[in-house]
Amino acid sequence: MNSTRPIATDQLKKEMLATSPIGTFFGISQRTFDHVWGQLTDPAGNSVVYISMEIGADPDVYSPIRARLANITDSHQITDSRLLDFYNTFVHGPQKIPTYSGGLGILAGDTLKSYADCHLPVIAVSLLYRQGYFAQYVDSQLGQISQTVDWHPESTPGLYLLQNPDNPEMPLQIEVPFLNEYGQETVATAQVWMKMEVSCDLDFFVPEILLDFYRSETPSLIRNAASQLYNAESSMIKAMQRRMLGIGIMPALRALGVTSKTFHLNEQHGVVVAIQLIVDELTNILQHPQIELASDEQVFEAARIVSQRLVYTIHTPVKAGHDRFNKSLYAGISEKSCQRILDLLAHDEDSPHSYNFTQLAMHVNRSANSVSRLHRDVTCRQFPQFAGKISAITNGVHHLTWISDERAKVFDATPLLSGWRHNPGVFARAAEIIDDTDFRERLSSAWEADSKTLIDAVNRMLILHRTQMSMTWIDPPNYLSTRVDADSSLKPEVFTVGFARRFSTYKRADLIFNDIEQLCRISVDNNWPINFLFAGKAHPADEPGKTVIKNLLNHQEELYRKSGGLVNLVFIPNYDMHIARKLVAGVHCWLNSPKRPLEASGTSGMKAAMNGVPNVSIMDGWWVEGYHDGATGWKFGHEGPIDNASLSESREELLYFEDSTSFYSLLPLILSAFYDNNRSKVFLDKGINNLLLNIPIFNTHRMAAEYLQRYDLKLPVDQALEMKHFAQLYSSDI
Ligand SMILES: *Cc1c(COP(=O)(O)O)cnc(C)c1O
Repeated sequence: MNSTRPIATDQLKKEMLATSPIGTFFGISQRTFDHVWGQLTDPAGNSVVYISMEIGADPDVYSPIRARLANITDSHQITDSRLLDFYNTFVHGPQKIPTYSGGLGILAGDTLKSYADCHLPVIAVSLLYRQGYFAQYVDSQLGQISQTVDWHPESTPGLYLLQNPDNPEMPLQIEVPFLNEYGQETVATAQVWMKMEVSCDLDFFVPEILLDFYRSETPSLIRNAASQLYNAESSMIKAMQRRMLGIGIMPALRALGVTSKTFHLNEQHGVVVAIQLIVDELTNILQHPQIELASDEQVFEAARIVSQRLVYTIHTPVKAGHDRFNKSLYAGISEKSCQRILDLLAHDEDSPHSYNFTQLAMHVNRSANSVSRLHRDVTCRQFPQFAGKISAITNGVHHLTWISDERAKVFDATPLLSGWRHNPGVFARAAEIIDDTDFRERLSSAWEADSKTLIDAVNRMLILHRTQMSMTWIDPPNYLSTRVDADSSLKPEVFTVGFARRFSTYKRADLIFNDIEQLCRISVDNNWPINFLFAGKAHPADEPGKTVIKNLLNHQEELYRKSGGLVNLVFIPNYDMHIARKLVAGVHCWLNSPKRPLEASGTSGMKAAMNGVPNVSIMDGWWVEGYHDGATGWKFGHEGPIDNASLSESREELLYFEDSTSFYSLLPLILSAFYDNNRSKVFLDKGINNLLLNIPIFNTHRMAAEYLQRYDLKLPVDQALEMKHFAQLYSSDI
């Protein structure tokens, strides 16, 4: 990705090694480290803390450091043993950090990468989950099987266990007051890890501070609560996990000397930090630590002051996405002062016995935003008392992470797109490429190459599952693995549809299989073969979500038989960023079939769009903004006003019949465009329109620029101007 000059040991040391009292870091120069750390610890507090329950940024899909090291052809040149160790871990070490569940975490990762590229002084805080999220196995009889993930932060490149600046032999530890299961005061200790999101030119970074409560000194109940992302064993565990994130932030920042004034909550999971800040503020106001003696007005006054420091992003209208906890639970895990604040600010309208954390986050912020225009309107309807301050900042994706290598090569070789790596806005000014035969040909070949890579990988997987059949108790998830005839592999020239995301009921992964007869008839009557590639995990406690996966598996054989082998549905287990990157670039169409208006944004469709792959989608979330009257893809399904639209996830209200029927009437149009010889015209036109119209909007540099307007940050004039240019690409909130 970077320039290909050779690199010598001395130069490597100078460019890529930084030491400090908290550790030795690889990938950036000392100068860069000192510059960034200086900003984060400056007494002026001109920086932002970004708080997220999950951060998804696997090095196997994007790692500027590894890309830089790829230029070293002979590692024997590296004589310094410390450098050689770093080199070996970065090149040969594990490339996955499996501590994300889906869209929320990957958005966080993409956001931080853009903050790094744009040189914004930001530090992120999250938790380190020793058991990750979970590994998904899929068995044709049993459906999804979840296993704990085996991963080793110690050997993962780019993850550093921070050392105690006062005693470099020892790890840095923070202590957080907690109550144990008997309501007695206790202390939980956490080690502090740091991951760096390094800019594409290795000249800036955004640190991610990951709190690791898995310590032998920490009471076991608390320790276990933080070992797995979204552990939902009990509401006690869930509440403790939220508390660990929220209450750990200030001690961690203090230990590191970080001074940021502004806090950004990526969803409400970390909102307990607001309680902590209110307690600190009240102590100031009262001049004594007995918060119990504060009047209601004093609590509200403290909350008002703290509000000025918080920016809050809400990500979903779906109830399960908003934490509410029984009040009695909080009597067990938190102090009286905390309960006092919750009583006043986390009132739950539907249930007087619960605290509602979304309500708290809505109260205590200076800016609240939803993640698309449609979602803003839904959020205003859900929270009418806060409607005045809810705005839209439509999500984006990090273009350098999601554009395939093949497509990137084409962009690199196109003079009109020069600078696209630093400025995704250049696509907005390159309208001529749509008529450039040379560009069209090269883009089309890149698309074919990516399709071939994808289909080859799927075929290898099908064979692997077949051979594993005799070695494990897992029945292969795919019908095709059980067919031994030579012709059961997928063909890259067949029209291929991709669908991959978390399996929640409202996303309706099985919508288009509602009437298999009808679907197969479309294919058989016209001799149009179709590959459907599906992937995604359901939360282990989400039984309806797991049922949807099982339904898909059950449909495979029927689809095959009723279509005489023309329609194939393949499920790819253990969806992750690596699979996502292959899928979004290799398919011919990206499918999105949620129940409007429950998909707040959706981001995988943006990843496809960045590669010039058209979407076929319900008019929900980002697609309302990305559809451009059909220039970039197709729409189907119910599109009525959202004022009275149901937000329920119950099956009767999910409009399966109406929306699948709409899909079946659209499908022949898409298939004929693909198969009737003018494929290159329709698909390439829509593909290129995606580059021209959607890359400039749905990238995280533009999104960063819009968030910057909600932060209280002072930037040097030229940098502020550059961010303004990104912001001018699009206004989410109209
Ligand atoms: C992008 C992505 C998601 C989120 O997809 P949505 O369309 O936003 O639901 C989930 N998982 C992985 C691995 C992804 O790459």
